[in-house]
Amino acid sequence: MNDELHRLKPEQEEQIRQLLLQQKEEILRNASQSFNDSLMGRDMDVGDNADMATQEEFIAIEYRLRDRELKLLKKVEKALRRLEAGEINVCEDCEGPIGFKRLLRRPVTTLCVACKELREREERVMVDTSHDFTSGLYRGLEASDSGED
Ligand SMILES: [Zn+2]
Repeated sequence: MNDELHRLKPEQEEQIRQLLLQQKEEILRNASQSFNDSLMGRDMDVGDNADMATQEEFIAIEYRLRDRELKLLKKVEKALRRLEAGEINVCEDCEGPIGFKRLLRRPVTTLCVACKELREREERVMVDTSHDFTSGLYRGLEASDSGED
């Protein structure tokens, strides 16, 4: 069966899982840092126990995450779900296999190289035309962010 060929070996899946969990911990650690800052040093310790944090804590932390981190966290969560479903290496666009080496470099990817390149070309066009606007907007958001607390 094709499925058999596409599916990663258990030890490869485990390797990707570790990378994803590491990435998740890192994001949550960053988030809990700003969380702690605002709560004057209350010990959240979400770093090592990231997956034991309750849903409620998690939501609270989510609010603290910057947009960029939140997006990355969502990607990591999605990749973990894809991993559990045995489809971590199945391209979202063409359903072809994503190379293991590519997954190692970028475990949150959902696209094979060919589809990714296609999308990047499309994205570059969009970024080019809106670059000045978004960078100005981003500075504005940064400013209001720091004054929030
Ligand atoms: Zn593809």
